[in-house]
Amino acid sequence: MIILDGKTASASVRESLKKSVEDIINSGGRKPHLVAILVGNDGASETYVASKVKNCEEIGFESSLIRFDTTIDEGDLLNEIEKLNNNPLIDGILVQLPLPKHLNTEKVIEFIHPDKDVDGFHPTNVGKLVSGLDTFISATPYGIMLMLEYYKIETKGKHAVVIGRSNIVGRPMSILLSGNTAYGNCTVTLCHSHTTNLKELCLQADIIVAALGKPGFLTADMVKSGAVIIDVGITRVPDTTAAKGFRIKGDVAYNEVAEKASAITPVPGGVGLMTIAGLLKNTLKAYKLTH
Ligand code: NAD
Repeated sequence: MIILDGKTASASVRESLKKSVEDIINSGGRKPHLVAILVGNDGASETYVASKVKNCEEIGFESSLIRFDTTIDEGDLLNEIEKLNNNPLIDGILVQLPLPKHLNTEKVIEFIHPDKDVDGFHPTNVGKLVSGLDTFISATPYGIMLMLEYYKIETKGKHAVVIGRSNIVGRPMSILLSGNTAYGNCTVTLCHSHTTNLKELCLQADIIVAALGKPGFLTADMVKSGAVIIDVGITRVPDTTAAKGFRIKGDVAYNEVAEKASAITPVPGGVGLMTIAGLLKNTLKAYKLTH
């Protein structure tokens, strides 16, 4: 059994990006610049954004964090995004989700210029992805594809079951795995909360991507021997024995499933790190669009 280690795979991506930035600087260019927008002070969002900013700095990107109060008016937020859209020194813009309820997430995402949409959430970029065109790919599924590539996981002709159909993870994942690409060409079954025979489908799967946000959901009795397991779930489960009062849990019952799997991602230390790698690659891509 192989542990699909996000630390090793993401370090390899970061190393190659660092080299690209050095080449840009040596040829007189400027650093690619990512702007992260954080509305409010949700604990998990703070952690994710801090990690994105830190990773940018480590590979030589410029990064800025713009914070707004939870009560920000939607019009004011859109105005700020517009300024960033028009600023030629900003390459990538991301708005950390979830947003407070009074803000319309779809409207905010659609306001980001598609050429600066490094999260790959804009409908224009989603449309391009579905059409098999070159575009910004939603960072988490992109990171998973980079992980499959790093570990040379055979996907062609395999049956992949994706659990969860969200616009940011499950659905784009199903499109990527079914695409006619080196780490695609799977036959994909996309499952969701109304799927009635999930266990039966999972037992037929060579690859399972669990992205539903239910800790420990995928158990060993749902997994075929030798399957490749990708655990996307990140849930803070209260635990008084942990220093922070919670532990991060994935959607897979790791210990029992690892005994049957041929390869598995741990949580933490798996897909989360690859998501940042995907975001960084998208940011360099955005820079290259205008240079
Ligand atoms: P979401 O809540 O938007 O979607 C969950 C999906 O799971 C839905 O499509 C729903 O139909 C499906 N689902 C729920 N219960 C189900 C069940 N019993 N059987 C089958 N399907 C079921 O969630 P999301 O934004 O896609 O995130 C999913 C998980 O991935 C969360 O834990 C989230 O924190 C995590 N996540 C991790 C990363 C990362 O970088 N590792 C990035 C994004 C999201």
